[in-house]
Amino acid sequence: MGKALIIGCGGVASVTIHKCCQNSDVFQEIMIASRTRDKCDALKAKLKGSRTIIHTAQVDADDTHQVISLIEQFKPDVVLNLALPYQDLTIMDACLATRTSYVDTANYEPRDTAKFEYKWQWAYQDRFREAGICALLGSGFDPGVTGVFSAYALKHHFDEIHKIDILDANGGDHGYPFATNFNPEINIREVTANGSFWENGRWVETEPMAIKRGYDFEGIGKRDMYLLHHEEIESLAENIPGIKRIRFFMTFGQSYLTHLKCLENVGMTSIKPVCFQGQDIIPLQFLKAVLPDPASLGPRTVGKTNIGCIFQGIKEGKEKKYRLFNICDHQESYREVGSQAISYTTGVPAMIGAMLVMNKTWFRPGVYNVEEFDPDPFMDALNRWGLPWQEDFNPVMVD
Ligand code: NDP
Repeated sequence: MGKALIIGCGGVASVTIHKCCQNSDVFQEIMIASRTRDKCDALKAKLKGSRTIIHTAQVDADDTHQVISLIEQFKPDVVLNLALPYQDLTIMDACLATRTSYVDTANYEPRDTAKFEYKWQWAYQDRFREAGICALLGSGFDPGVTGVFSAYALKHHFDEIHKIDILDANGGDHGYPFATNFNPEINIREVTANGSFWENGRWVETEPMAIKRGYDFEGIGKRDMYLLHHEEIESLAENIPGIKRIRFFMTFGQSYLTHLKCLENVGMTSIKPVCFQGQDIIPLQFLKAVLPDPASLGPRTVGKTNIGCIFQGIKEGKEKKYRLFNICDHQESYREVGSQAISYTTGVPAMIGAMLVMNKTWFRPGVYNVEEFDPDPFMDALNRWGLPWQEDFNPVMVD
């Protein structure tokens, strides 16, 4: 069917690239381009024998011109951005300049303020529409599958959804006292920020980790979970008509929280530069350098993830509740693609999003979040490509 340029070659990209190679009828040719070319070449070597033709390249995606020349040289049908949120806008600029469609998994965040919002990317709406190209934003698990679940619930089970609780549980144990399951810098920025949720048309802000609840997750057991700000709340508040409240909860173990508190208290999670031996360094970036690389957690992580949404609303005049979730096993993911479940649950939907844009099932000129398209083809693809979903018509609710 076509060609995809994949930017980034970290934990998530590695899964997506494995999945593209499993789906070689659609991804006939891919180019893996990242800051460190050796990683791209090593992955290509691992995938030797795949029917997908793989090229590699070095690129600094902070530099729009470098991305433009790569696109001009390779002529992909879609650019799949699996680098970091900081590169979203430079890559979108390159897509505009070359009239190439764009897919990512995380919304733009400026380096110097830990505040991620869609406003910067939504501002490209008119330019993408006029250029006749599609940008699909946030095609990971959360954001991503959680938005598709919401669209599916609305299409098949509700006349109106009033409340959504997104529950992200990781029951995985990697054996380290402290490590993050995806890019440590992005992960720690997310969890040390203030929490917030959407209620009655406005944001309600909380202190970090101020709201705690418990839930008994299938495949994991009882876990404490904490309310966080999360990016899909912003788009779902726009795209689910009649919504009154959206919250996002993530589970954290006590060891993770104790270490995080200590690191925060000593200033190691700060993103303000400090002068160290005559050189400016950012404490959080230094911390990232000493923590285990998330890509190395695969072989040691055991247990499962359970991520999904609980919906409350109205169907034919009656109150209704409904839950959709996926359970993913860390070791099974590792056996299949050499990565733990956090990368797996993000990398598979990224491949699916790119496939649907490429084969035009989800193509519309402009900038869109996943819940703005028909959820059915995505839901079918989740079952087919390794993230089967389950439904519960009488779920336990979160108070
Ligand atoms: P990693 O840090 O493992 O990988 C990031 C990759 O991007 C690395 O290969 C890195 O290169 C490359 N990169 C960074 N800067 C540049 C640049 N300027 N130019 C070119 N390449 C660059 O991160 P993850 O794989 O864990 O995460 C990837 C993305 O997925 C992130 O945006 C993250 O926020 C998102 N994500 C989304 C989730 C969801 O459910 N929606 C869940 C988890 C993650 P190098 O190897 O040289 O460092």
